[in-house]
Amino acid sequence: MDKLTETDPAHRLESNVRSYVRSFPFLAKSASGSTIVAEDGTEYIDFLAGAGALNYGHNCKVIRNALIGYLSDDGIAHSLDFATVAKNRFIDTFDRLILQPRGMSYRFQFCGPTGTNAVEAAIKIARKVTGRHDILSFTHGFHGMTTGSLELTDNPYYKEGLPFLERQERDPLPFCASTEEHAASVATIAEILQIRSDSNSAPAAIIVEPIQGEGGINVAPLAWLKALEDLCRQFGVLLIIDDIQMGCGRTGDFFSFEKAGISPDIVVLSKSIGGFGLPMALVLMKPEHDVWKPGQHNGTFRGNNLAFVAATVALEHFWSDFEFYDEVKAKAEHIEDRLGQLVSQNPELELSYRGKGFVWGLESNVSAEIAGLIQQMSFERGLIVETCGRDDQVLKFLAPLTSTLKEIDRGFDILAEVCTCLNSQRTGAGVRHARAASG
Ligand code: PLP
Repeated sequence: MDKLTETDPAHRLESNVRSYVRSFPFLAKSASGSTIVAEDGTEYIDFLAGAGALNYGHNCKVIRNALIGYLSDDGIAHSLDFATVAKNRFIDTFDRLILQPRGMSYRFQFCGPTGTNAVEAAIKIARKVTGRHDILSFTHGFHGMTTGSLELTDNPYYKEGLPFLERQERDPLPFCASTEEHAASVATIAEILQIRSDSNSAPAAIIVEPIQGEGGINVAPLAWLKALEDLCRQFGVLLIIDDIQMGCGRTGDFFSFEKAGISPDIVVLSKSIGGFGLPMALVLMKPEHDVWKPGQHNGTFRGNNLAFVAATVALEHFWSDFEFYDEVKAKAEHIEDRLGQLVSQNPELELSYRGKGFVWGLESNVSAEIAGLIQQMSFERGLIVETCGRDDQVLKFLAPLTSTLKEIDRGFDILAEVCTCLNSQRTGAGVRHARAASG
């Protein structure tokens, strides 16, 4: 199997900061759908999908052909924030296919092409609109790596050695990941908002991921999201939804918060909005919150026209009717069945799963390390699946939404083999332990 070696330039010269390559030490060469092919020809099923940037798979043919056509016609590639035909089409298509049918009305802001830049823009908007400073975020929340977003990200690992952020006194709000936690979480948030507004330190906004991705696939109940919105309205605080990882269909609906019946002040999107894995980020703000003066949040790469073209084709192809929804729903049920089998067939691992649509987390009650072991052993057998959570204790499924049942099954067959292997090791260990104890 193709492995990176010490002499590989990625090892010799690339900074120590590199991350995914450590879990997946192979040399990727080509990719199609849910399969990545290494330089030596080894095939890997991709259940990571560019960390959620490839909801429509690798090299989605219909998008790729549109891009090739656009480039062949000398379509403009880089355009700052000029009006372009490609951008016009994207805005019109997004409004027509996504916003209007959901009764939503938002202004579009294209910022620098990463998720974290959209979060930075949202932070600024909330501050400018309210004239207040603080943005509150949640335990296990993840919002990006630039300074403003990092302040809102919970995991202290990312703040190590950064005095300003290390010193920052931060009391994250309690995220609610089950209906049992609802009442306590709402009461705590209400109390915090009350104390802050009594002492003239009300926050500008609260930012939340309806399903926390990096934080461990923690699914907020819909009623809790609604209660959170009610609290925001009660205290005059803006609600920002970070749908960077869970948006664009990942949960089965286009937006992850759709079924909660809420109307966020600001929504940030990135990752799969670019359709083809091309960088793009989008801030959607209620029209009354569009308080920017011209150029106040600028950036050179706000006009990635290839991303506009890809994004438009993706919307037209996948989101213009209900066929794709239905397919995603049916395949999601199959994924859930396969997860259920992993749990029931491997009792020694004490597994449990949670999620929705095409995002699932699998966790072992036995030890945080089981997720890492499954990840490693799966990779050796040709499956790319990542871990998440504060201790990397959750195995995270983010397969492309376009994965075929055959691809899904190939991935789950590998997982079944790995789990059986680990389960029988533990059974053996249990038997040995019992024998030793009985003398
Ligand atoms: N917000 C969420 C919820 C994310 O999952 C991520 C990235 O994983 C970000 C923000 C940051 O996006 P980017 O890595 O494109 O800056």
